[in-house]
Amino acid sequence: MRYISTRGEAPELEFDDVLLAGLARDGGLYVPDSWPRLGPEDWRALRGLPYAELAAKVMAPFLGGRVAEADFARMTAEAYAGFGHKAVAPLKQIDAALWLMELFHGPTLAFKDFALQIVGRLFDHVLAKREARVTIVGATSGDTGSAAIEACRDRARIDIFMLHPHGRVSDVQRRQMTTVLSANVHNIAIDGSFDDCQDLVKGLFNDLAFRDRVGLSAVNSINWARIAAQIVYYVHAALALGAPDRKVAFSVPTGNFGNIYAGYAARAMGLPIDFLICASNRNDILTRFFQTGEMRIGKVEPSLSPSMDIQVSSNAERLLFDLYDRDGRALAAAMREFRSSGLLALGPNLMQRARDVFVARHFDDAETVATMRDEYRLSGEVLDPHSAVGVAAARAVAHTSGVPVVALGAAHPAKFPDAVEKAIGKRPELPARLADLYQREERCMRLPNDLAALGEFILARARARGGKKTAA
Ligand SMILES: *Cc1c(COP(=O)(O)O)cnc(C)c1O
Repeated sequence: MRYISTRGEAPELEFDDVLLAGLARDGGLYVPDSWPRLGPEDWRALRGLPYAELAAKVMAPFLGGRVAEADFARMTAEAYAGFGHKAVAPLKQIDAALWLMELFHGPTLAFKDFALQIVGRLFDHVLAKREARVTIVGATSGDTGSAAIEACRDRARIDIFMLHPHGRVSDVQRRQMTTVLSANVHNIAIDGSFDDCQDLVKGLFNDLAFRDRVGLSAVNSINWARIAAQIVYYVHAALALGAPDRKVAFSVPTGNFGNIYAGYAARAMGLPIDFLICASNRNDILTRFFQTGEMRIGKVEPSLSPSMDIQVSSNAERLLFDLYDRDGRALAAAMREFRSSGLLALGPNLMQRARDVFVARHFDDAETVATMRDEYRLSGEVLDPHSAVGVAAARAVAHTSGVPVVALGAAHPAKFPDAVEKAIGKRPELPARLADLYQREERCMRLPNDLAALGEFILARARARGGKKTAA
């Protein structure tokens, strides 16, 4: 399998190069040149496998033979052995046709661990083979950061620089990042929004000289390997609920569109997903897009679900690529226009294709809190505010469909104790392995929203240096 850029100008790459490159050199995102398709018998053969084995099988076609099967099976086994629940992604029924898939039993208590625990190991494996080093730079609105840091800490061939918007992530989220004192981990608080952080990262990547000099690489949700790893839990849940002989739907609390795009990819592989619910908070650019066909950038508004406080959802470009019939040049032009005017408009024909798969709903903070309170009363389930947005959307759509709906439990409630207390009147407890989080020492650098200052900061600290020693 080869990978192509959504903007049509970057070279085609194999899996291991896509893994290390992150963003394509033309500013696009890598996608497979075609979708692997599985038939009903193939899906049935995957039923009942332990999660790690399922992951090895489902991801295999995307590796394109570039990582040995036995090595990869060992990586998935190690990655999921560290999860705090034997089922890895337990599925809980919370209503007649509604399930919650708990994706928060990983080391940092959010679904990001599912992909990053694999991606960290893949990086290690590929870099060791190449005797190379990389500098990973990422932007986080909360959970990506801790999950990426946890996946990269103390790895000999990686330095990681993680940007977060100063004051806009929860205390637990910040501490999960800043209390990792490993020498190869650099936390940076930017005076700006998450979109500013993401723009800075894109700015670094678009500076090709800088990029080569420090062997720049990403583990943000633009990294294809993360998408591939997230496909697995859609398969896991669908098979458990009767696929391929029964259709299922998913409700996905959405920010950067990575998680829900993995559901789209699973559907493209032939998994019978009837529809995907794109659930947003008050930052409703995606809801408006699916309803009107116009993607119009607004202002980022802080909410109770900070990991979804986003206006520009990077991974939506992967969906747009398909809606544009995989015409990279046309999409590149549309994205340039979007950047300059703040508007991207799709005609009704293109939008119809999107609407065949996606339904979108958004909920403000008051509705989010009401959902957390109601769910606690109805099913005893304590939801974090992100998961609550997904459950609210599932409940708003489910009764009209007759298809079982799986709402993705995106984060452990203990990551957002204030919101939970507001909703149900008590604070959720952190799992034992994080119980002393508030006693641990923090380390973090605060920087202005300035590309040059950030570049200097990284240059002074990254160990990778040009030529043979870098990989990407
Ligand atoms: C990352 C994250 C999201 C958003 O997921 P995307 O893949 O960016 O759409 C939602 N909720 C939580 C808890 C997250 O960590």
